[in-house]
Amino acid sequence: MAEKFNLRGSGMTSQRARDRLVASLEAQGIMSTEVLKAIQSTPRHIFIDEALAHGAYENNALPIGFNQTISQPYIVAKMTELLLANKPVRKVLEVGTGSGYQTAILAQLVDNVYSVERIKPLQERAKVRLQAMQINNVTLQHSDGGMGLAQYAPYDAILVTAAADQVPAELLTQLAIGGTMVIPVGADQGQQLKLIIKKSASNYQTKVVEAVNFVPLLSGIIS
Ligand code: SAH
Repeated sequence: MAEKFNLRGSGMTSQRARDRLVASLEAQGIMSTEVLKAIQSTPRHIFIDEALAHGAYENNALPIGFNQTISQPYIVAKMTELLLANKPVRKVLEVGTGSGYQTAILAQLVDNVYSVERIKPLQERAKVRLQAMQINNVTLQHSDGGMGLAQYAPYDAILVTAAADQVPAELLTQLAIGGTMVIPVGADQGQQLKLIIKKSASNYQTKVVEAVNFVPLLSGIIS
């Protein structure tokens, strides 16, 4: 697909807009300089429709089609910071590629990202954007991420970007000992962001981070 992206942006999508976003994330308590740097250098405007691109650097979730949304920058920053706090994190599984924005942030901070999406057209768009950014350490997979991605397991960290009723057992199995999972859990109202550390094969430490509002983790795939 020959699609041209204006990676630098201009006006509402310029570097100044990214700098302002980073300042607001810092003010909201994001402390990781590596996460802030990745957000500062990532053109979020190419991960959304051109018609909405002017709002790319406001701290909002935005529609990406198929009833899905690109996550709010604050939540992307927060989840990434939590995921990387417990080093070393080399290999990461992301469930819910969506626009690919969170994937692009992760790819700049770890060795390898495996990202699973159940809606094929979203995965295809994400792929083109990651290529435009010359990101080469991401493997995209079209499948139901509730099953994880067994062929590359175990993962040092697992990031789930859609809300599950319960933490999927397969994902816990595919997490390395000492690994970290960040996952929103709960029904439409009253979801909680959870941080889970796998202490041993049968011992998990769970912390509730904050209230969140994600689209649901759904089963099955759409081609
Ligand atoms: N990180 C993405 C978030 C997109 S919203 C971004 O910032 O753009 C969550 C995504 O999870 C949606 O694209 C949705 O289709 C996907 N999803 C939901 N259930 C899934 C499942 N079981 N397996 C894989 N992807 C899933």
